[in-house]
Amino acid sequence: MEKMQNEKMYINGEWLNAASGRTYDVTNPATEEVIAKVPLGGVEDIEKAIDAAREAFDNGPWPRMSPGERAEVILKLARMVEESKSEFSRLETLNTGKPAKQVADYDIGATIDNLKFFAGASRVETGISANEYIADGTSILRREPVGVVGVIVPWNYPLMMVGWRAIPPLLMGNTVVLKPASITPLTAIKLTRMIDSIGIPKGAFNLVTGPGGTVGEALARSQKVDMIAFTGSTDVGTRISSQASSTVKKLSLELGGKAPFIVFDDADIDAATEGAVVGSLMNTGQDCGAATRFYVQEKVYDKFVKLLKEKLTRVRVGDPTDMRTDMGPLVSRDQFNKVKSYIEVAQKEGQVLLSGEPRSKKGYFLSPTLAAVDDDNARIVQEEIFGPVLSVLKFSTYDEAIRRANNVIYGLASSVWTKDVRTAMMASRDLRFGTVWVNDHAPIPSEMPWSPIKRSGFGASTSIFSLEEFTNPKHVYVDLTGKVRKSWYYQIYGDQ
Ligand code: NAD
Repeated sequence: MEKMQNEKMYINGEWLNAASGRTYDVTNPATEEVIAKVPLGGVEDIEKAIDAAREAFDNGPWPRMSPGERAEVILKLARMVEESKSEFSRLETLNTGKPAKQVADYDIGATIDNLKFFAGASRVETGISANEYIADGTSILRREPVGVVGVIVPWNYPLMMVGWRAIPPLLMGNTVVLKPASITPLTAIKLTRMIDSIGIPKGAFNLVTGPGGTVGEALARSQKVDMIAFTGSTDVGTRISSQASSTVKKLSLELGGKAPFIVFDDADIDAATEGAVVGSLMNTGQDCGAATRFYVQEKVYDKFVKLLKEKLTRVRVGDPTDMRTDMGPLVSRDQFNKVKSYIEVAQKEGQVLLSGEPRSKKGYFLSPTLAAVDDDNARIVQEEIFGPVLSVLKFSTYDEAIRRANNVIYGLASSVWTKDVRTAMMASRDLRFGTVWVNDHAPIPSEMPWSPIKRSGFGASTSIFSLEEFTNPKHVYVDLTGKVRKSWYYQIYGDQ
């Protein structure tokens, strides 16, 4: 068993216990052992953090530093994460049950790249050039920070989501109050220790741990917070929109998904089934962009299903610290129970071709489930399960595939598998999702937007669009005529 960690929150440059003195346990989902005690933050703690961020924004040095100076801080942070890559990986695996081979390259490796990209890109602000759009004056566009940004992130990519959501606002000169998911706060705390050691100005970055229902809600409601960047479920995102509306806050919402994976007759079925396994089981299926609905054209349906089933059966579920493990446990008892209940739903709604089984007495392990379904309105086809329960459906024509794939409330990600360029290009146009992959399912380069539509939310988590979100455009108009009475004043003065 690991040495138990006793963690603290970071408010106004200080490491603190919760005002109530209370803590809660963080567990390892592979062993169910308690691995850390974390402060159970409450309203008093979050208000203190908001006040610190407000003061740091209104009067502190961070928003007044040059983009280059702020970028240098984040580049330093990226280098520190890189030097501690194995420690971050170990901690993320311990807290989430992610397989070690996924975490090092993907979770931590991609986070380092995200930080470096954001730092560089934040130094180049894009927009309309200054010009005399009205002949008598020069118009200048300024991009200014929004203010205090509350950042609320989920448990499925604990460190990466901090990189996606808390770093862009900081780089653009905002101050931040971060609330990690209650069950997975450990890598966010470790990153905050690094931010502290770099010497970020007091109050510019704050971290409060605790339950979403109290700490997160108080953040979303606060009058002193200008913007909320939220990544999480559509249910909680909807709740946050209404909480934030009373103070007309700016919002960026990255919510749930239910990605279709469309396989046309001409696709390379070996490649498609390889992609289907990885695209659906990465992170134990706890991925907002995970492939969950396989729409397969009738001629290749049987071949696809046979191969997919064989490949799913070979996936090794087990100890996430073992480099040979392909799929770790679900993140928590609640998530395990939720996913298990969907296996029962699958048995009612379709023909279960492969049924998920728990793998050991301890830990939340569940092998994959695959069900053949006819009805697009089945719950396992419509609802975000966030675990390895997959559905496969047969289609005949292009139009039918696109219509059925679009028939969900979500609009985050999708993929299409075909060798025909025209089919690929038409599908990229017709699929109502923020991302369309062709002959792959999952890559997200730092430079391209992860940008949802429909009830998957709005905003962007990567690319320059993410940086821009945390700014407000301001128009400055400078008169060039020097005249007491400008030409257009006749609207009041008439011909006097
Ligand atoms: P969740 O919505 O339950 O929780 C997300 C965060 O919100 C957590 O920090 C939680 O403590 C907090 N929270 C809970 N109730 C709150 C409230 N009333 N007010 C304010 N904050 C509150 O999501 P989860 O279960 O942690 O994560 C899984 C979800 O996240 C899935 O739906 C997944 O699709 C989504 N997700 C989306 C993206 C994306 O980029 N679109 C990325 C990762 C995860």
